[in-house]
Amino acid sequence: MCSYHASFIEQYVYESPRHGGIMFDFARFRDPAYAKAIIKEIERLAADKIVRIVHVCGTHEDTISSNGLRAVLPNNISLIAGPGCPVCVCAAQDVDMIIELARRGHIITTFGDMVRVPSTNSSLAKERMKGADVRVVYGINEAVEIARKNPEREVIFMGAGFETTAPTFAVEILRGPPENFSILTSLKVIPPAMELLMNIEGFAVDGFITPGHVSTIIGTMAYEPLAKKYHVPCVAAGFEPLDVLEAVRMILLQIEEGRADSENEYTRVVRPEGNLAAQKVLRDAFYVDDAPWRGLGVIKGSGYYLRDAFAQHDARKRFDFPPMESVDILPGCQCHKVILGMIDPVECPLFGKRCTPDDPYGPCMVGHEGTCRIRHLNMAL
Ligand code: SF4
Repeated sequence: MCSYHASFIEQYVYESPRHGGIMFDFARFRDPAYAKAIIKEIERLAADKIVRIVHVCGTHEDTISSNGLRAVLPNNISLIAGPGCPVCVCAAQDVDMIIELARRGHIITTFGDMVRVPSTNSSLAKERMKGADVRVVYGINEAVEIARKNPEREVIFMGAGFETTAPTFAVEILRGPPENFSILTSLKVIPPAMELLMNIEGFAVDGFITPGHVSTIIGTMAYEPLAKKYHVPCVAAGFEPLDVLEAVRMILLQIEEGRADSENEYTRVVRPEGNLAAQKVLRDAFYVDDAPWRGLGVIKGSGYYLRDAFAQHDARKRFDFPPMESVDILPGCQCHKVILGMIDPVECPLFGKRCTPDDPYGPCMVGHEGTCRIRHLNMAL
């Protein structure tokens, strides 16, 4: 079981007398007085320890960067962005496959970020400019609707995501989409990527801020084996500035007490066991197997794949593909190092020059969860 400690957030934010003990006034998650109290405690706990805390969520990076949280922490505490952007870690081979299907004249549906992801020698956006039928949707249900309205065409949905996104795909597949609908998934499982980080020589991780969205589905108990195996504190956090600061404080407290548990700062949303209904639809629609991550290679047990019962809706099985020599990392791009948290985006020589949010060269500059894009936009403020 995950251990649990009452947090500053619960004491000062949830238990607001103004709200009868239930607090949904989000302004208080940004309250400077509470922030100062947490930072003071962080400074006490940090003392002169060098502590490297890694998060694996693009939304956490956005919270950290846009609120200047690194600047308010002691210099000996580092917040490092790991592989938390689904578009960034989508293997080039998957993008090359959907480009191949676009070139055959099929209807391609996908999320907006995916359209601009550069692959080996093109992108869906470039293919659309050449006449391919590429349509942006906000959810897989819209893609299914397009298939229903176009029974004479093949409609393929390309979806990248983590445990948070995968249940929506599972539900549509289990509902029984039309015969002309298939999906090409690039769905990833987060804990194996965290374990990969623990095994990189010379890359120290003293604590993980675990992703709030993913934790909603898989629960904090999912990180307990990692916490115990590597003696690394894990804390699931929400996405307001106080959430992240509080997660840092909780990690430092574990370090001081010599503990390594999977704890929960995001108690207003995340449960230790997660969302059991979502976990069931995931099991019903998918099996888990090894998966390629862009620039990181194949990570054991890190991908969701459609079960054989749904093979007719699996684009990987429904279509034949020619041999592909996909290139994950284009010449000069440092995305593999950025995704692993080994370098800061500004250390890439292409950052802000050849590679910008308007004209991304690497995948980390594309989406709103991409570390390079977040850094670039916040530098421009
Ligand atoms: S700046 Fe561009 S090319 Fe460089 S690491 Fe970031 S996304 Fe990749």
